[in-house]
Amino acid sequence: LKPRTIGSSTVWHDWPLILAYHSVSDARTDGLAVRASDFEYQIGWLHRHGYRSITLAEFRGETFNRGERVVIITFDDGYADNYTAAFPILKCYGFVATVFLVSDFVGTDELLPADVARIKPGDDRSPYRILSWEQVGEMAAHGIEFGSHTCTHRLLNSLSVEGRWDEIARSRADIGNKIGHEVESFCYPAGGLDKEAIQMVEKAGYDCAVVTPTRYGIPLCRYALRRIGIYRHNTPLLFRLKTTAMMRRNYERLKWRPWKRSSKTLPYRNPN
Ligand SMILES: [Zn+2]
Repeated sequence: LKPRTIGSSTVWHDWPLILAYHSVSDARTDGLAVRASDFEYQIGWLHRHGYRSITLAEFRGETFNRGERVVIITFDDGYADNYTAAFPILKCYGFVATVFLVSDFVGTDELLPADVARIKPGDDRSPYRILSWEQVGEMAAHGIEFGSHTCTHRLLNSLSVEGRWDEIARSRADIGNKIGHEVESFCYPAGGLDKEAIQMVEKAGYDCAVVTPTRYGIPLCRYALRRIGIYRHNTPLLFRLKTTAMMRRNYERLKWRPWKRSSKTLPYRNPN
């Protein structure tokens, strides 16, 4: 399958499974943090069932046999636990992943604004720490791909044209300079995207972008590759259900909750 040729949702179920993780942590208790033992179960299950793990960069241009079990594991936000907790488990099974970095935060002691808001005074900040460039380098040497999740994790569709370009293009340049090669993959913070953001990501030189569809009607293209989010509360049964083609085929329908009227659940609309 070539993502370029896909123009209608009828073929979506043929796409490989793309999983979206954030944190693998026993210290955190928020929904984005999957317990290490659950993560090990999930990776072990995929391995036992014959899934081949590739990065998003490897997905581009590769051809797949129908029914071949391929999984693309992605992590958003670049938490340090991707190195300390997830990376050893991935290595153990010979799996790789694509990690989306918030470039201005890598190698700093700063926490992402959403986490600062979450942490109560006196709480331990260390479970929310971001990767260092040394950790990024070591993971990259083991086949982990690094993509961009912007410079500061602002919602792109809330920014001016200049602000968006800075977030999309400068993060690509900064990460590329640190890892020593082109950055090919992009991830929209909090699913905040519109037609202009998609066009800008292509113009900035990325090969593909991912989204966890929180809104119905986002156009199907290689700059809006759908992912299945895996969260802390997911039981083994729900995880296995989420890997099925049936889930990918119906994911957007399942995500569209018109009774929950927020900007995240409203249908995506092209501005023109
Ligand atoms: Zn994010």
